[in-house]
Amino acid sequence: MSDKPVYVTQPYLPPLEEFIPYLQQIWDNKMLTNGGPMHQQLEQALCDYLGVEHVALFNNGTIALLTALQALRVTGEVITTPYSFVATAHSLLWNGIKPIFVDIDPYTLNLDPAKIEAAITPQTTAIMPVHCYGHSCDVEAIQRIADNYNLRVIYDAAHAFGVKDAGGSILRHGDLSVLSFHATKVFNTFEGGAIICPDAKTKQRINHLKNFGIVDEVTVVAAGINGKMSEINAAFGLLQLQHIDLAMGRRREIDRIYREQLQHVKGIRLLQDSGEAVSNYSYFPILVEADYPLSRDELYQKLKENNIFARRYFYPLISDFSMYRGMSSARRNNLPVANDVAAKVLCLPIYPALNNDEVSRIIDGVKEH
Ligand SMILES: *Cc1c(COP(=O)(O)O)cnc(C)c1O
Repeated sequence: MSDKPVYVTQPYLPPLEEFIPYLQQIWDNKMLTNGGPMHQQLEQALCDYLGVEHVALFNNGTIALLTALQALRVTGEVITTPYSFVATAHSLLWNGIKPIFVDIDPYTLNLDPAKIEAAITPQTTAIMPVHCYGHSCDVEAIQRIADNYNLRVIYDAAHAFGVKDAGGSILRHGDLSVLSFHATKVFNTFEGGAIICPDAKTKQRINHLKNFGIVDEVTVVAAGINGKMSEINAAFGLLQLQHIDLAMGRRREIDRIYREQLQHVKGIRLLQDSGEAVSNYSYFPILVEADYPLSRDELYQKLKENNIFARRYFYPLISDFSMYRGMSSARRNNLPVANDVAAKVLCLPIYPALNNDEVSRIIDGVKEH
């Protein structure tokens, strides 16, 4: 118990003195929000870093999700995954849209394309998949279904900052992709988010929607919201971006050590590594199977007693929360894989400041049973 506590994640904070010049600039500009210079610079810097055409910044990922649905005028029913953070489905409810839960693939833990078609009804207008833990969905299969049924695809890409497949950023897939820059994410602006837009026209509509629908002094074209990112958050993002490759490199190293040390532990299943793709190592989930000596919850408690705070992420499933569980698609027998995984998953600590001694302590905590 004398060991210092380790939490599942810790925000990456560059040295404080490096932030001072950014603050000085904001004080000099006297522009605190409403698309000021920091905001503009960060949008451009993210386009360059991520390799995408258009980025619209937001004050958080949830407002970005709400706005993405508004921008595409999505209504009726939307097919989504129960195995995600609750904001995914909440963004649908806030738009008066009915979420239809479809089960996940047992290996990627992403929406299973083979199960999507059976859930489509005349009311279905879109699919909202999640690139869970930053692992790419089967984007081609999803797009094929969307094209066949004339559906929109909005990716909740909150975990997918910087992830690439053979063709480039995975954020280019679908109609829109939404990022979160919350403090717990790989790249953070304290709070923040973004929509990746395919063209300037869509970005303009999104810019209007995130600023109350205001076009000019006398023109309001939509019932927009206040989704603007402030200058201080944008400035922090610019600073964070200078350190992101180093931070990601340390995550990759920790991921490698975990894989090496845990791959042969009986009863512990790891997700496949990213192979050729560029990963962001945002999470390190393990699945505690039936042949492990302890149950998932027992392991979770044991680690906790040793000051290691792993996280059951995602548990409970979104479909088990009170506002969803009465829906027919939320039934357990409709979602066997998601229910199985939610009962087995444990995310181990992974963040740039985690040192090798702490990584060893965590590995020992999993191995010693
Ligand atoms: C973090 C997260 C969100 C919400 O983002 P915020 O920036 O916290 O509003 C949405 N979906 C997923 C999958 C997330 O992990």
